[in-house]
Amino acid sequence: MLYIDPSACIDCEACVPECPVEAIFHDSAVPERWADYVALNAERSAALKETGGNITEKQEPKMGCGK
Ligand code: SF4
Repeated sequence: MLYIDPSACIDCEACVPECPVEAIFHDSAVPERWADYVALNAERSAALKETGGNITEKQEPKMGCGK
């Protein structure tokens, strides 16, 4: 799973139409059933930055991404 860092995101929404499973929403438009993911993205992206798990370079699509 990938996480979006809300402290780095500039809300350009360029990623929204690119997500093959339509899993990305502007934080003001996240469906209620997925609202918990807003905090999860903040928590996990902060934790991953501390451990070096953040993505800083373009990578090839992972298996199963639908592309
Ligand atoms: S592409 Fe998506 S994650 Fe990146 S800055 Fe734009 S809205 Fe944020």
